[in-house]
Amino acid sequence: MVTSEQQSAWDAAAAVLDPEVPAVTVADLGILRSVEMTGGRSVLAKVTPTYSGCPAVSAIEIAIDVALREAGFDPTIERVMSPPWTTDWVTTEGREKLRAYGIAPPVQASNSLRALFGDTVVACPRCASTDTTRVSEFGSTACKALYKCDACHEPFDYFKCI
Ligand SMILES: [Zn+2]
Repeated sequence: MVTSEQQSAWDAAAAVLDPEVPAVTVADLGILRSVEMTGGRSVLAKVTPTYSGCPAVSAIEIAIDVALREAGFDPTIERVMSPPWTTDWVTTEGREKLRAYGIAPPVQASNSLRALFGDTVVACPRCASTDTTRVSEFGSTACKALYKCDACHEPFDYFKCI
């Protein structure tokens, strides 16, 4: 059963924005796994980082810690590495927010045949054309790749699948 206290702890932690893509929250990205009451005002928030090499991970953990403290809780942040995060954890709402922000959301089903052969078709977040070219493996951050749309000629970031 989810108590109202647990719900407000979840709401406080889930509202934390991703430092790299401030259009989406840690809940949208599936980074925030769970928030449990562990007695009194103590909460345990479990976080699974998107990319282990991503410097944003500790920033996210600190932001969740601060958000829970501001909401009156005594948080403990636990980093959970298993099961590993995949782009399939990004919520439908999160995908829409990424697209609206101008970032192509990760292609779902990262175990698809296309993904296996590294032949990911990325649609342009602006005009939805699939006539796109990867310009660089690394975009504005290590977690994104830089693409160019051959239809509207706009460059855009693609949130990489792992
Ligand atoms: Zn385009």
